Amino acid sequence: MGHIFRNDIQEMAVDSLRRYLAEAIEPLYNVEYRDRFVPKDVLQGVMRALTDFGLVSGVVSEAQGGLGIDWLTGMMLFEEIAATSADLSVPVAINTFGASFLAQIAPAHLQDRYLPGLLSGETFVSIAVSEPDVGSNPAAIRTRARRDGDDWIINGEKTWISNGAYSDFLICTCRTGDAPGQLTHFLLDRTEHPYEVRDIHKVAFNSQSTAQIFLSDVRVPHANMIGEENRALPNTLSLFERSRVYVAAQGLGIARRALEEAVRYAGERKQFGKVLAQHQLVAGQLADMATKVDAARLLTYRAAEMVDAGLPAEIEAAMAKYFAAEAAVVIARQAVQIHGGNGITREFLVEKLARDSLLIPIYEGTSQIQQLIIARGLTGVGAF
Ligand SMILES: Cc1cc2nc3c(=O)[nH]c(=O)nc-3n(C[C@H](O)[C@H](O)[C@H](O)COP(=O)(O)OP(=O)(O)OC[C@H]3O[C@@H](n4cnc5c(N)ncnc54)[C@H](O)[C@@H]3O)c2cc1C
Repeated sequence: MGHIFRNDIQEMAVDSLRRYLAEAIEPLYNVEYRDRFVPKDVLQGVMRALTDFGLVSGVVSEAQGGLGIDWLTGMMLFEEIAATSADLSVPVAINTFGASFLAQIAPAHLQDRYLPGLLSGETFVSIAVSEPDVGSNPAAIRTRARRDGDDWIINGEKTWISNGAYSDFLICTCRTGDAPGQLTHFLLDRTEHPYEVRDIHKVAFNSQSTAQIFLSDVRVPHANMIGEENRALPNTLSLFERSRVYVAAQGLGIARRALEEAVRYAGERKQFGKVLAQHQLVAGQLADMATKVDAARLLTYRAAEMVDAGLPAEIEAAMAKYFAAEAAVVIARQAVQIHGGNGITREFLVEKLARDSLLIPIYEGTSQIQQLIIARGLTGVGAF
């Protein structure tokens, strides 16, 4: 797709970020640390550079210490990260969501203390919703916070928590009453209110942290409550509306990179005396892949523009996330197929992209949950 949607400033921002990513991130994440955990100090160096480009810092207003970039431009920059390294895109996304969340609903004293580190790339946040028995239905959360004078005492277990090992603090969703919706957010500082972190090994995304978090009698002051008591569910759902646009851009980035790798390979590899691209069945696959990449981008841009316009975007964000995530899986698999046997070796990036793609339809609401959200928008009734 040409870039009729990007203005000159966006085009320049994307270009200069691309140069940095090609020089610094491609060798770091796709060669040196491919499938290996990137240490926190290395990631801090990367995050410092990325916040200068407007990643993370962009989503917070200038008055609150950020750069005040619109959601669409931030998402365009983020697509570049995902197209270079899906692993790196995870801490960038989580810090972005955490910063945006704090800036919108945290009390001023928590903003003053925790936003600057996120905006400069020094610190890392985790957003802890999921639990061993609670995935698609966050209303069933069991991690319990009980009031004890001026404090709350938290007990429970969270799982699949991105940034877990890197985290300096946690935005933790806890049950504060027995009714399904009685959930409340608390900020847990890892130094002051220690929690145990255990990393999870996965099929992909092992250059970053996805972790179990154990909370055993963690004492947190009442002042660390974020948002009002029992308002965590609506606040989380409103965060999802925006965060799903970024996860759509993750799928888009993986899909675009897989297409780029397939186009390059199809132009070089010869069989039957001509390059693969000259075989009509390969050309047809490339055309399908390119069409899906552009469709994913258009849905993602639309959802981001609606967020910027302050319009309700639940359905559009769900469509973008659903389509881009599923497209990434199909396109990455086609890219492997076009690489033949080479496609399943570590010598070629498509092997990793195919593994990376599998994770996108799972988090931030599975593909089935997105289908249910879209259908509810059509019929007016939930089929959950
Ligand atoms: C790499 C990664 C990073 C993550 N990061 C975070 C994080 O930072 N913070 C966090 O809190 N969580 C995180 N998660 C957790 C993620 O949000 C959950 O995995 C996701 O919500 C799905 O929950 P589940 O895995 O328990 O699957 P389940 O909810 O058990 O679902 C299993 C299957 O059943 C289907 N299903 C469930 N309910 C329905 C229904 N009503 N109708 C039809 N189908 C249904 C699902 O679509 C899925 O196919 C992460 C997960 C991964 C893989």
